[in-house]
Amino acid sequence: YQIMRPQNEPVLSFLPGSDEKKSLKRRIAEMKASAIEIPLIINGKEIRTGRTGTCIIPHNKSHVLATCHMAGPRETEIAIRAALEAGKKWEATPWDHRLAVFLRAAELISGPWRDTLNAATMLGQSKTVYEADADAACELADFFRFNSYFVRQIMEEQPQSVPGVLNRMEYRPLEGFVFAVTPFNFTAIGGNLPSSPAMAGNTVIWKPSSTAIYSNYYVMKLLTEAGLPDGVINFVPGAGSEVGPVVMGHPMLAGIHFTGSTATFNTMWRTVAQNLENYRNYPRIVGETGGKDFLFAHVSADTDALIHAIISGSFSYQGQKCSATSRVYIPESIWPDVKKGLLREMADLKTGDVEDFTNYMGAVIDQAAFDSVRSYIDFARASPEADIIAGGGCSDETGFFIEPTVIVTTDPHFKTMQEEIFGPVVTVYIYKDDACEKALELCESTSGYALTGAIFARDRIAIAKIEKRLTYSAGNLYINDKTTGAFVGLQPFGGSRASGTNEKAGSKHNLSRWMSPRTIKENF
Ligand code: GLU
Repeated sequence: YQIMRPQNEPVLSFLPGSDEKKSLKRRIAEMKASAIEIPLIINGKEIRTGRTGTCIIPHNKSHVLATCHMAGPRETEIAIRAALEAGKKWEATPWDHRLAVFLRAAELISGPWRDTLNAATMLGQSKTVYEADADAACELADFFRFNSYFVRQIMEEQPQSVPGVLNRMEYRPLEGFVFAVTPFNFTAIGGNLPSSPAMAGNTVIWKPSSTAIYSNYYVMKLLTEAGLPDGVINFVPGAGSEVGPVVMGHPMLAGIHFTGSTATFNTMWRTVAQNLENYRNYPRIVGETGGKDFLFAHVSADTDALIHAIISGSFSYQGQKCSATSRVYIPESIWPDVKKGLLREMADLKTGDVEDFTNYMGAVIDQAAFDSVRSYIDFARASPEADIIAGGGCSDETGFFIEPTVIVTTDPHFKTMQEEIFGPVVTVYIYKDDACEKALELCESTSGYALTGAIFARDRIAIAKIEKRLTYSAGNLYINDKTTGAFVGLQPFGGSRASGTNEKAGSKHNLSRWMSPRTIKENF
């Protein structure tokens, strides 16, 4: 069969009274009614270690969704052996049969699994229904479908043969196993990071974020139902400090596929460096890390569009996206209109239980996230250089709630203009209209990150100039659009500098990193 270029999975609208809303609500109720026990899954077998943690609902923190077993060094070693053993058969399986598993998983997501993945993401990660559906259903299905298409494209890329000489490229998987370490903020990334190396024929140790084990476990079950053979992806939740050293100390570590914090990624590089002499191959290290994503407005900006981009870029999913807008540069002459619009629109944003579909935001992921975000807000509140013009309220009584917050600062290097907060907090710096060049210089140099950025302008010459000026500040640059919400296959995603290795999730570049090609020349 032919794998054609896919279409992105459309987001559902969940209108009041709709069948899709009723069905999802039913599933949420079922999942809340009984807590589950989550084992490790190694070589297709469930393993209970007895060392357990819990998965809770961030917006209703006393509600336990699951007890989850955590891996230690011993189970990690078992998982590595299983991955290496399963690798022999998986590598030998024709690539189109490997992809069939993931294409089937995408069909299951569009169909019977959609409610489960959405409900798990809403409950376990406090995503609103629209954020959950765009992530756990659409983006995950898109990753499976587009990556299948890209794998096929790579497999079919063959060198020229000449009379008497047949040249071929054999796109082998890496020799060894891949370590996928995934974040809490996107169920789709949880699914994609182990899957894309597996689609290229690798076997994988998957360590999900300890705060997303609940939804990620369902992704693992989905893949199993789709026909993923035992041992291809091994689900190994556990503390990074327990699992990481064993995996990264293993001579057959062939690759790392990571999304998470810059600090953790740095630790992984250091660990790899320390073990360098032990590896059979240089591990491929692919990572997407933090961001301090900018929105740069020019005097010619459409202020309504700008206001909506600030709100949705900064506050959707409580700002817990590497791509979230977190520093904004606005010219003085349009600021009064923008400020008025922001305050007006924000007055209607509700924060609360995501089971109420009219809430715009849920809770942040856990107590540590809550404490960290609150400390930035407290810092701004106490600073003479900053003014909190909207939000600022925090409550962790029933869940980890933080109001959408706008800080205005007179200091372009203010702490909240530089550091990643990973919460619903955006900082605005107002520049003089005739100091656009200086403001661009600040935008370019203020943060060490380079993930996403947006330019708002209607003046075509200004757009061209700003785009050129900010070249390396963003791996994904948006013009007159928010900094979040890249679509798989349409806007390949990733950044450089402290934001990662920029291999673009959901692209051919990413998939080729999980292959070790052999070039074969044959004389006739
Ligand atoms: N791909 C997501 C977006 O475009 C962000 C991914 C992340 O936060 O890691 O918004």
